[in-house]
Amino acid sequence: MNRKARPHARGSDPGRSDPPPRRRVFTNRNLRMDSIAAVGFDMDHTLAVYNTDNFNHLSFVMAIEALIRDKGYSEEIRSIDWEPEAAIRGLVVDKKLGNLLKIDAYNHVTRARHGRKFLDRDERRNRYPRGGIRLGTTRYRVFDTLFDLPEGSLYASLVHLKETKRGLLDMDFHTLYDDIRGAVDTLHADGSLKARITADLDSFFLKDPNLLPTLSKYRKAGKKLFLLTNSEVSYTAAVMDHLIGGKKGSWEGIFDLVVCFSRKPGFFVARGDGEPVEQGAFPQMPNRKGHCYVGGDSFFLEKMIGCGGDEILYFGDHTYGDILRSKKSVGWRTAMIVPEVEEEVAALRPLRDDWQALAVLEEKLEDLIMERDHLRAVDDRTNDRIAELDKLVGDALGQRARLQRNLRSVFNPHWESLFREGRAASRLGRQLMEFACIYTSRVSNFLNYPTDKFFARPVEVLPHERWALPET
Ligand code: IMP
Ligand code: MG
Repeated sequence: MNRKARPHARGSDPGRSDPPPRRRVFTNRNLRMDSIAAVGFDMDHTLAVYNTDNFNHLSFVMAIEALIRDKGYSEEIRSIDWEPEAAIRGLVVDKKLGNLLKIDAYNHVTRARHGRKFLDRDERRNRYPRGGIRLGTTRYRVFDTLFDLPEGSLYASLVHLKETKRGLLDMDFHTLYDDIRGAVDTLHADGSLKARITADLDSFFLKDPNLLPTLSKYRKAGKKLFLLTNSEVSYTAAVMDHLIGGKKGSWEGIFDLVVCFSRKPGFFVARGDGEPVEQGAFPQMPNRKGHCYVGGDSFFLEKMIGCGGDEILYFGDHTYGDILRSKKSVGWRTAMIVPEVEEEVAALRPLRDDWQALAVLEEKLEDLIMERDHLRAVDDRTNDRIAELDKLVGDALGQRARLQRNLRSVFNPHWESLFREGRAASRLGRQLMEFACIYTSRVSNFLNYPTDKFFARPVEVLPHERWALPET
């Protein structure tokens, strides 16, 4: 880290310099941290960073066992392989046709996978003749969190098995997905998955040495802190105790309020007060100060914490349950934790020149094609220039394909970037821009910023303004 002496803002740590790009906080809406009175955190995939390879693999294997045991699926399904890159967040399951879909900001299907096969453009048009899909029906389910990804690998493999081994899986695609969903849902809810995790916490979580210092820094700056999680008391206690360390149960002292089993997004509609956690019943969450609760709603939380609406900044990973609902229903400011940002920024940085070259090339290509089409339309005596333009267009297309290949090679091999599709935002990318005031890859990235930081959004440039404004 560059530790050169430089002026720092009030409240910042002397000696700290700008974090590397992959660890920065990115701003969609201006946010003045000094107008925030309380900072809240989701636990799973927000404060608690999972070792996703280990966790997703376990979830995949346990779901297969549950399908055999509870749903009578053939033992043969044990033969399917775990494919870590089968799915990314934001994908949509089309239960009717047995496909995994990537969609853009307008819900147009841009990629589709059936079993092991990716549909080509014609097949896609054939299956989705309107181009777009209408979410919000039982036909579709969106992968909103990292917890959903094992279902992608499982569904793609079982669809493949169903298509290739006649009679092995004779239910329809819709039932097949609902069975998988049911199995994963049960694993989470019945405690079986969590028993395996809490027995070996080191294998399933990545400890972040900067987490406690980050929380302490906000506390020292006078912010109220709260934890708001859908996880049960015993699981929250075990995980937080593991992540924060210190004397058993001491972690709860960092928070002014702890709410477990909150059932977000339902938490953001009126439901009543939470129930206090029984004092002393959970050694890792003894509830010494009487500030730990189960359930309730956001109105109860605001009453307990002593502030509300846009004085609260909430950190979460779930696009819908944490970010969209807390912002839309109760007007909290939102910080989305998106671990994938770290990989994407790190991968894209070395390709900045290609990215810029592609933008220049696209414009050049447009001009060349326009000139060629114009000449073709008005004058057939200019054949030499037309032939020359044909060659230039051909060369530019080849160059464009090469640049596009370079840029794609750094992303998921099947789905590419989580946040975009070609030159446009994916649905997830659009939601991130629309609903998260700020976003970053991990909570501890905030250690690098002053606690009274004004997170300022970059200037928004409309397409027509690009022609008038100086390049930045
Ligand atoms: P949070 O992110 O801290 O609010 O908590 C997420 C909780 O939801 C964890 O306890 C997960 O085990 C649980 N969870 C995730 N997916 C499912 C599911 O499909 N069914 C039931 N619980 C789930
Ligand atoms: Mg979460």
